[in-house]
Amino acid sequence: MSNPRILLLGPPGAGKGTQSKNIVDTYGVEHITTGDALRANKDMETEYGKPREFMEAGDLVPDPVVNEIVTAALADADGFVLDGYPRNMSQAEFLDEHADLDIVAFLDVGREELIKRLTGRRVDPETGDNYHVEYDMPEDDAIADRLVQRDDDTEETVRDRLDVYDENTKPLIEFYEERGLLERIEGDQTPDEVWEDLRVAIEGAVADDE
Ligand code: AMP
Repeated sequence: MSNPRILLLGPPGAGKGTQSKNIVDTYGVEHITTGDALRANKDMETEYGKPREFMEAGDLVPDPVVNEIVTAALADADGFVLDGYPRNMSQAEFLDEHADLDIVAFLDVGREELIKRLTGRRVDPETGDNYHVEYDMPEDDAIADRLVQRDDDTEETVRDRLDVYDENTKPLIEFYEERGLLERIEGDQTPDEVWEDLRVAIEGAVADDE
């Protein structure tokens, strides 16, 4: 299968980062993630202020800033997995003009499960791997000792991020459904089960296209 163009859609905590890794390892495509790009440039001066000011409140960073990140990343990518972009209708329309997609996979997870996952999430700053205080701590103490919580994974900001998702990002489900691109994946399963369903959906979508 050659260079699939995949969009992972879903709320914060749905497993988009975890499944993006599987996609990159399996298909060798580019991982385009606005969240990581913004975290690496939190204090960059833009005409709207610093990304940090929006991120720490759980708000969306203004469209021109994220659209520019995505335009640059798409220029270097043949196949890709987009993770965390687009997050509103105007970004979806911008993307429409700049790239074709083979599949939009929607990782569907309920709100209470998302809050549990996000507030318990810990990140290894050296590898970027995610863990969870209850379900998935590393066996190696050296790794466990260096885990950190993301600034925006506190309970208050998590609730704000989920509200922002409901208001801005959820309408994209219908937008992509109408275009016949949407595949709904049951995201409440284990990461391996989600990956199995996702892999089948991707291979089906790309085969349909060929
Ligand atoms: P994430 O790592 O995808 O959860 O993103 C973390 C934060 O970065 C979000 O809460 C937003 O503040 C910002 N962000 C990431 N992607 C976008 C986007 N496509 N549009 C606007 N803001 C974004």
